[in-house]
Amino acid sequence: MAKINENYLKLPGNYLFAEIGKRVAKFQTEHPDAKIIRLGIGDVTRPLPKVCVDAMIKAAQELGNVETFRGYGPEQGYEFLREKISDWNYRRRGIEISADEIFISDGSKCDCGNIQEIFSLDSKIAIADPVYPVYLDTNVMAGRTGDLHPNGKFDGVTYLPCTAENNFSPAPPENKVDLIYLCSPNNPTGTTLTKNALKNWIDYAKKNNSVILFDAAYAAYITEENIPRSIYEVEGAKDVAIEFRSFSKTAGFTGTRCGYVVIPKNLSGTTSSGEKILLKNLWLRRQTTKFNGTAYIVQRGAEAIYSDEGQAQVKNLIDYYMTNAKIIREGLGHIGLSVYGGVNAPYIWLKTPKNISSWDFFDELLKKFHIVGTPGAGFGPCGEGFLRLTAFGSRENTLQAMERLAE
Ligand SMILES: *Cc1c(COP(=O)(O)O)cnc(C)c1O
Repeated sequence: MAKINENYLKLPGNYLFAEIGKRVAKFQTEHPDAKIIRLGIGDVTRPLPKVCVDAMIKAAQELGNVETFRGYGPEQGYEFLREKISDWNYRRRGIEISADEIFISDGSKCDCGNIQEIFSLDSKIAIADPVYPVYLDTNVMAGRTGDLHPNGKFDGVTYLPCTAENNFSPAPPENKVDLIYLCSPNNPTGTTLTKNALKNWIDYAKKNNSVILFDAAYAAYITEENIPRSIYEVEGAKDVAIEFRSFSKTAGFTGTRCGYVVIPKNLSGTTSSGEKILLKNLWLRRQTTKFNGTAYIVQRGAEAIYSDEGQAQVKNLIDYYMTNAKIIREGLGHIGLSVYGGVNAPYIWLKTPKNISSWDFFDELLKKFHIVGTPGAGFGPCGEGFLRLTAFGSRENTLQAMERLAE
């Protein structure tokens, strides 16, 4: 029989959402009349902006006509979309990122997960804690870590604790690492990294020849003017950072699938003999071999947000969720809970009262208030003692959940 990649066995099963589902189902069976409100979801719920729907219908019709039919598209993504991204998300904000530094994909999860393939297996990694689990798990699968310890940490990984004490903004470590995963606005804490914090990381990366992998999936949710939407707003970032973006949370594309990665044209890594190699070329080589692009229809849909009307519709969508976020943040604040996030992200990170565990608090919310959150411990060891609530529910459910808690 074929031998398997045993690195997969180092991963604990994906118990988090399965366990949540199990506990919620059990409670509902025992209390059939309880109206459960789910504020644990990490998926959007509002429909696609009209500009996107219209553009996709038009694109579908083009494909149904022999004169305008298209087959395989360019692996890097259509130029019409890359040009618009370069213009609207970068040049208009004073950042010089050109269309040929942008690579379109079928979503950011794949990009964040696949990027590690172009780096050496002996690269040392540093990962924010708590954070989106994809960065760590894909490095475990690749064999870049040791085993999981009872303290919840993998050997050989530098965890970067994000705690209330450091404002959820980790400082660079003492040791040297090669790859640094940062997420701002962060999932699950909903907090952001300032320009100064990013500058520290850029300085560290320059000194240690590291590459920063910066996930900005929630950039569109930033409301505070001085918080960087892109790491390239900070001087020197183009020499050390790759950036990930997605249409999923920006425009409701979680089911439609479109994202992109930015690899600056001069960003390089080295071979063991010290020769510099452009990362952009390696990624293009990877994509041309393993990827055949995301659908033309979807890329036309994504392109449609880059117009005045498109931007207004996207803003509307995000305002809806961010109003929910405000309702949750203020509602929890009123009843005396410590809350973080929710200002520049659709996530509210809530300290459990009396230091009870994430799961005990999850049970209490479910049993007493019929509200479902996500236990913070599921996002990393430093998430213990916290719970994540999301602003992706309906307005009605969000308001009702806060009323229940206020009583
Ligand atoms: C939702 C999310 C993504 C985007 O995922 P897609 O594959 O583009 O849908 C990326 N990073 C984080 C942190 C996320 O929460």
